[in-house]
Amino acid sequence: MNKLKTRGQLVVISGPSGCGKDTVVKEVLKTNKDTWLSVSCTSRAPRPKEVDGKDYYFLTKEEFIEKIDKGNFLEFAEYAGNYYGTPKDVIEEKLEAGIDVILVIEIQGALKIKEKLDDTIFIFILPPSMRELKKRLDGRNTETKEAMFKRFQSAYQEINTVNKYNYVVINDEVEEACKKVNAILISERSRVDRIEETFLNSLEEEIHEILVELN
Ligand code: 5GP
Repeated sequence: MNKLKTRGQLVVISGPSGCGKDTVVKEVLKTNKDTWLSVSCTSRAPRPKEVDGKDYYFLTKEEFIEKIDKGNFLEFAEYAGNYYGTPKDVIEEKLEAGIDVILVIEIQGALKIKEKLDDTIFIFILPPSMRELKKRLDGRNTETKEAMFKRFQSAYQEINTVNKYNYVVINDEVEEACKKVNAILISERSRVDRIEETFLNSLEEEIHEILVELN
């Protein structure tokens, strides 16, 4: 008999680009076998070393719009001039199998999920400082000055949306941040609303039996 509901949890992770959320999530996937990362579609051009089907499904704008029209996305958003979207398929299958599904998405998409699926866990990852974030983005050296400007404009809006999330994790150090995310996932699995009714009933029956024995 299952004592707690085994269904997986939908987990949305957001944070300003460069805050290290992808690295933290990679570490979570490595250390927590009950997690699965959804691969998004995007109309953005691949960065060097990015692999189609692994980092993203890279689509043309037209292909992306076709998928929107077909209703293929759980959510999608336009961010810094490109489309990004979460494919619907596979997610339900993973949740059913007890796997926590992680979506690493920006805030507009996160807010759409919040409207649709309220029992989602929302985690916001912040860099220790914005200067540190700028340093990381400079180090990555993948952005034009204009793209960087757009990202910092978005970051401004993003950090003002943090109160819509359930948890905040400051990414000073990847391993620590990963431990915190895993701790959140464990705590959420222990929520009272995950107790199976049948388990509570069986405990009640046992109490009844014990009382009869003691009487
Ligand atoms: P990047 O271009 O740096 O890979 O991603 C830009 C932003 O888009 C990041 O904040 C990333 O989390 C977000 N993003 C990636 N995939 C999706 C998605 O499927 N939906 C939404 N709404 N945002 C996404």
